[in-house]
Formats: sequence, C-alpha cells, structure tokens
Amino acid sequence: LSEKLDKALHVLKGHGSITEVNVAETLKEVRRALLDADVNFKIAKEFTNRVKEKALGQNVLTSLQPGQLMVKLVKDELTELMGGDVEGLNLTGTPSIILMSGLQGSGKTTFSGKLANYLKNKKTKKPLLVACDVYRPAAVDQLHVVGDQIKVEVFSDKGNTDPVAIAQAGIAHAKANGHNVVIIDTAGRLAVDEAMMTEISNIHKAIQPQETLFVVDSMTGQDAVNTAKAFNDVLNFDGVILTKLDGDTRGGAAISIKSVVNKPIKFIGTGEKMEAIDVFYPSRMADRILGMGDVVSLVERAQEQFDEEEARKLQKKIAKNQFGFDDFLKQIQQIKKMGNMKDLIGMIPGAGKMMKNIDIDDDAFKGIEAIIHSMTPQERTNPSIINASRKKRIGKGSGTSVQEVNQLLKQFNQMSKMMKMMQGGGGKRMMNAMKN
Ligand code: GDP
Ligand code: MG
Repeated sequence: LSEKLDKALHVLKGHGSITEVNVAETLKEVRRALLDADVNFKIAKEFTNRVKEKALGQNVLTSLQPGQLMVKLVKDELTELMGGDVEGLNLTGTPSIILMSGLQGSGKTTFSGKLANYLKNKKTKKPLLVACDVYRPAAVDQLHVVGDQIKVEVFSDKGNTDPVAIAQAGIAHAKANGHNVVIIDTAGRLAVDEAMMTEISNIHKAIQPQETLFVVDSMTGQDAVNTAKAFNDVLNFDGVILTKLDGDTRGGAAISIKSVVNKPIKFIGTGEKMEAIDVFYPSRMADRILGMGDVVSLVERAQEQFDEEEARKLQKKIAKNQFGFDDFLKQIQQIKKMGNMKDLIGMIPGAGKMMKNIDIDDDAFKGIEAIIHSMTPQERTNPSIINASRKKRIGKGSGTSVQEVNQLLKQFNQMSKMMKMMQGGGGKRMMNAMKN
C-alpha cells in the first residue's frame, strides 16, 4: 500500500504547480491503493471524494505548495478515518475486567500476555490472566507459558468445561489476592458461528467487563471488517486490537474497521514477542501508510508559521538586492516561532553557514536581535552606512561589544553575497528550499 501511495503522491510532491487533472489522477491512484489494501470500495470512494472536496475548498490549485497541501489533506483524512485521537483503556473497576474476543488464531492469547506485561510495567497494576479456552487444553498451557515468561499469575481450571464459571472464579481469585486488573482470554473458532457468539455473549453478560476488546489479525483484510461487525453486533465491544502488523502487513483493516463499527483501535501487535505491543496512534498509522515519516509534521509546522505573502515579498527583495536587517529580523522571528531550531535552521537562506559557530538553542538569536534592535531604520535598510561611531553606539545600546557588532555585519555581508549568487534561476530554488 505504502509503495502505491508513494507513487501516487510523488506526482504532487515537489511540483510547483498541479492541475485539476493531476488532482483527479492522484486521487484515483489513492483510491486504487486503498482498494488493493482490501479497504471496502464504498469507504475508499467516500474517502477520496472527501479529500477532493476539501482540496477544492482550500484552493489547493492556487496555493503556493499544492503538492504538500494535498499530501497533508490525504494524511489528515486518513488519520480521521482511523479514529482521530488516541484512545486509552478504561481501568476504573476494582478489579478492572478486560475481556478478549475474536477468532481462533487472531492473537488473543498472545495479546493477553502482552497487555498483562504492558500493564505490569506501569507499576500500579497487578494483573491476573484467566484462561477460559475450555476446548483446547493446549491453549491453557500456552497462557501459562506466557504468564511464566512475563511473571504474571495465570488462573485456570482444567477440568472445568464452563467458561462462565471459570471467568467468575478467576475474578473472585483476583479480588482475594489483590489483583487490580483481570484479563480474560477466551476461545475462538475459525469462523463466526452461533456457538461461539453465544458463549462469548454469556461470559460478557456474566462478568460485565469495563473493556471488551475485539482482537483481529490485520492480515485478514476485508474479512476482518465482517468479523468485527459480527462481534460488535453481539458484544458492542469497546475497542479493537490489530495484531500482526509487523512485516509488510497491509493496513487495510485499520482503515476500514473504524468506519464500519465506529469503535477505536486501541493497541497494535507488531510481533510474537511479549514486547511487541504499541498504543495505536491514528496519525502515525497514516504516516506509515503514506510512508512519509516525520516530514509531514515538519511541513505542517512550517506551513502554519510561514506567511506566504511575506515569502513572496522577501523573494522580490532578494532579487532586487534590497534585503536588509529588518528582513533578517523577521526571518529570525519566523524561525523562532517554529520551535525546534536545529530542524528548521536550514530554512533561512545562508543561515546554516552563518550559525555554524553558534550553539543553536532558543537563545541563539538573542545577541543578534539585540544588535539589530539598536540599529536605526536607515542602518537596517542600508547597513553600509554603519561606520565606527555608529558601531560604538549600537554596541552600547545592545549591551554587546563593537567586535560582536562587527561580526554580525561581516556575517550579514557574507549572507547577502550568497543570496546574490543564488539570484535568478537559483532564487526560485532557494525559495523552495526555504519552504521545504
Ligand atoms: P488466539 O488463538 O487468538 O489465542 O491466537 P494466538 O495468541 O495463539 O496467536 C496465534 C499465532 O499468531 C501465534 O503463533 C502467535 O505467535 C502469532 N501472533 C500473535 N500476535 C502476533 C503479532 O502481533 N505478530 C506476529 N508476527 N505474530 C503474532
Ligand atoms: Mg488462544
């Protein structure tokens, strides 16, 4: 999926201008990629329609960076589709009861162990695992192996064939032994059937868990959606656990499930080991699907803070060789607004070189700003008039020395020279560099 989307978005990334045809074509590719990942046809179509509407509404075509805006739209919409915000577990009960549901092989037993380990590491939680798979003795043994591995107690009753009774006995055991979380692992079958639904529904009714989790193998694609729907109809579960999201697993299930059952995905499983558990972050999943990493957030921050009109004016000034200290000051203020200086320092032309010898932290520009503030408007627009006596005055006014003023002037001159060099054809490239 990632590769396909990458290809689709590649057209838009880095292109100065796009046409309506481009937008339509890209969205068609995005839709195809979603379909390939087993996303329901209707959901994929609705998705691309929404993105298209938003693209038109935000005048993507006339914006300065249509490609990036488009990428951002696709990402935001994908994030929203997968649930928007991160959803935690409800652990308010005493003890808190968590019930696992799902088909056989979906990863319930493995995830029960992972979750117990995850909660145990939170220090305030003392979990108990309860084995309610009465059909496969091996399943009970499996949970014991897991429990030994993570040093969490496992409650089981091998002769007992009534899962409701075992669950209740497990909860009583937890209460008597100071466990504040009970994780109930249940049996599943290879396909949805009456018997399984009746059994899990009976357990659910009897123990009234705070959290009923539906565990689903993310490799099952379109089927995952149908299974989720069947379980949700019976249990009205609280959250989804997406397992086996390691390797090159397709993300289709994550995209579809939320929109079909309207329940949040809470955790993901990313391997067979007990540590392979992660909180589900919709935006990270969108990033992963789009294969963009942190680039998007960087683009967003820049987009937020960088006034596009200003950028255009600045470009003109540079072209006409009118870049002065006032403009420089504005650039510094823009950069400061963006936060992480080290990431963003490269956005100001020539700044990387200029800041080479300065430790880049939030105070990095303090001295520079003070010096510029002590200059008269004429001095700022026309630095060449700054003679020895002016330097003395500026140094005094800014609480710095003549040497420091000299150094800034020298660096400013170097920077201006560099800008001149980049004029003409290079100017545009530089502006792009500034914006990327
Ligand atoms: P259950 O029948 O629902 O209890 O499923 P299990 O917990 O027994 O898991 C079935 C198989 O999937 C086992 O071989 C697990 O090791 C494997 N498994 C479970 N979760 C993951 C995961 O996140 N990634 C990978 N690669 N394998 C997993
Ligand atoms: Mg099992």
